[in-house]
Amino acid sequence: MKLTTYRFRLKDSACRVRLRKLGWACNDIWNYCNERNAYQWSFRRKLLSAFDLHKLTAGVGKELGLHSQTVQAVVDEYAKCGKQFKRPKLNWRSRKRSLGWIPFKAVGVKVSADSVTYNGHTFRFWSSRPLPGKVRFGSFAEDAQGRWYVNFVCEDLTPERAPTGKQAGIDLGLKTLATLSDGVELTRESLTRTFEVQLATAQRARKKKQVTRIHAKIKNKRKDWNHKQTTLLTNEYDVLVVGNVSSSKLKKTTMAKSVSDAGWADFKTMLSYKSLRLGITYLEVNESFSTVTCSVCSERTGPSGLSALGVRTWGCSTCGTEHNRDQNAAANILRSAGDIQRQRESPCL
Ligand SMILES: [Zn+2]
Repeated sequence: MKLTTYRFRLKDSACRVRLRKLGWACNDIWNYCNERNAYQWSFRRKLLSAFDLHKLTAGVGKELGLHSQTVQAVVDEYAKCGKQFKRPKLNWRSRKRSLGWIPFKAVGVKVSADSVTYNGHTFRFWSSRPLPGKVRFGSFAEDAQGRWYVNFVCEDLTPERAPTGKQAGIDLGLKTLATLSDGVELTRESLTRTFEVQLATAQRARKKKQVTRIHAKIKNKRKDWNHKQTTLLTNEYDVLVVGNVSSSKLKKTTMAKSVSDAGWADFKTMLSYKSLRLGITYLEVNESFSTVTCSVCSERTGPSGLSALGVRTWGCSTCGTEHNRDQNAAANILRSAGDIQRQRESPCL
């Protein structure tokens, strides 16, 4: 079953105080688990299981004003993190540093068109779109600016779409965000540069709130753009192939600003889950040599090295084809995905 998370902004001015208190109660449960776990560890060198912690916290919800399922969800999350990090003591959740978080399960809430009722309290939210199916679980969550949101994880009943027969390799770049193997370019303004002056002014004046607000704005704009483009791509193509580019190497160079602007990771995550939802193929392939290899004759005749990043077009010295650098790379990426698929179909080769 496909699950999708929908996030809505709560009309929080009326309920902020209540939510904050509930968030603190969740912190208390987390910290209690942490303390018991450390105590247990000091004697037996063994971590408490979720089962033990459930027994220890049974019935505590009533006193804290939380639904019993919320208590269970916090404990489950705690146990999961403990196992993951293999540490007897995780970070404490503090009122000052930790962002509010109140998980719930479907039985603990009643959801209507624009409100959610939790433990007898109704919270209204800005209903920007209808939910696609039944809510399975979710959470109330706070962001760095102190705004509250409700997240619903729903069963996704979106039907798979009819095939269009189009394929595309995608070369993720710096100047234009991405170039497709059929020559289409996805471009976007450089957000970090647009807000550079505003940000610097606010930082010099030590206006902390304003700085947070500008950062949030950049983040939102980037996310909005990513959503729009990935939706367009997944609606138009049946096969999408992306290189396994890592931005960590380029971040050390002078192009750091353009790199962090591009936000490849989010873009790829969105492509991946939207493809899954619509039933189309999404692949990530090793893209080494994709920029220097000629997509026509497969000879490595292109410009290489960091200094060659400024070269936009080049001619192949073997077969004489003129290439747009990014489009050529995208074509190579698409071709290597074809190789992978052929290998999968006939593993004897
Ligand atoms: Zn060539």
